[in-house]
Amino acid sequence: MMAAGEPTICEICKRGRVTKRMEEMAFRQWSDKGYIQCRVAILVGTCDNCRVKSLDPGSDKILDEAFRREYDKLP
Ligand SMILES: [Zn+2]
Repeated sequence: MMAAGEPTICEICKRGRVTKRMEEMAFRQWSDKGYIQCRVAILVGTCDNCRVKSLDPGSDKILDEAFRREYDKLP
């Protein structure tokens, strides 16, 4: 874990600072039951210089779990 309030320098431009905040993200993914529509809140870092967005390590798992949750809802 990174210390709170510690600025993260952007890896892309090496100049900007990355601000992390929770963002709601909608995505859909193909499965054998058709497209699954998912909506999750994940921590996204945005560079204040080049605007590159980066996902937190572990986001993949959150997205995966959201997908599985929606998938299980379907008959
Ligand atoms: Zn940047």
